Amino acid sequence: MTDLVRPRGHQDAVAGLVRSAREGRLPHALLLTGPDGVGKFRAALWLATTLLCEEAGEAPCGACGSCKRARAASHADLFTVDARAHDQDELTIFFVAHREDRPSTAYQGTSIEDFLGLRAAEGRGKFVILREAHRLNEVAQNALLKMLEEPRDGVHFLLETATPDALLETVRSRVVEVRLDGLDRETCEAVLFDAGGFDRTDAAQVEEMAELVRLSGGAPGVAMELSSRRAPELAQLVGEALTGTRAAHEVAAELWEVDGDFEGKTAFVRRRVRAETILDLGLGILADAERCLAGGDPVPLRHGQLAASLAKSGAFASTPARRRMGRAWLEAREDLRLNLSPEGLVDRALASLSR
Ligand SMILES: [Zn+2]
Repeated sequence: MTDLVRPRGHQDAVAGLVRSAREGRLPHALLLTGPDGVGKFRAALWLATTLLCEEAGEAPCGACGSCKRARAASHADLFTVDARAHDQDELTIFFVAHREDRPSTAYQGTSIEDFLGLRAAEGRGKFVILREAHRLNEVAQNALLKMLEEPRDGVHFLLETATPDALLETVRSRVVEVRLDGLDRETCEAVLFDAGGFDRTDAAQVEEMAELVRLSGGAPGVAMELSSRRAPELAQLVGEALTGTRAAHEVAAELWEVDGDFEGKTAFVRRRVRAETILDLGLGILADAERCLAGGDPVPLRHGQLAASLAKSGAFASTPARRRMGRAWLEAREDLRLNLSPEGLVDRALASLSR
């Protein structure tokens, strides 16, 4: 089953694309861009399902055979390319083109070429959705480029990514970019309530959700990820270390005890994702504290409260100390790409706080 959910916050953009399609003006390749977790993939799925729906309305009817097949991920004219759903980090040539000589570790499923080789089953066009298109490697992008260069009637490519710069200039020149931005607070909260897992009648959960929405910058997908990683607790601990309310070494141990769910195939990857989350939170708090120091209003900031207290604390009083902290956290974050101990890198960032 796919999550066919109304793309809240992007309804005007999607409605505009549906209208273009009804008038025969939908570009054959779209690239939906915008921050992570704002619902770009869902918007692409909604658009394709709408255009495949037998009712030909402004939204999928949800009840016709086409909508049911789309929801069950069994629609013959809708093909989703998703590296992570197949446990791959990269979208290789095997996702794009038909190759007989596939290594056994490579993706073994249907390629875009295979899919396009079949006639449209229902006559309302064929749609290829490329989730996280930045995962396409160069060989795969070049193979895709050939398909984009020779558009076929009724075939539509819907690419989505938060990092369009990862795509070749040649590919970008063949797609029409549509930007989908972060959602306002109410819309983001509505998406999270829709998704379940939060109880509107529980004051503590409502408060936690407001915190997650702030931390995510209006991206429900990111908010859900931060929730499973227990980011608000981690941010609190990092904030205590930064402001000097608690000793860094004490906080260091607790950061690794917070019972969050960090995704990854191996224990090392999960530890690295935890370190990444911790360091990103620290960098976010430091950046927001700089904004407060420059006279900015803390209220709309992701880390408003923590940042405001850090800006007022002794830790932030000296410019060289502030710079040293910022540099240390940034370097630790960059060094995470090397295969260094995640705990060691977090310790290194925290050590920059000892005054
Ligand atoms: Zn329908």
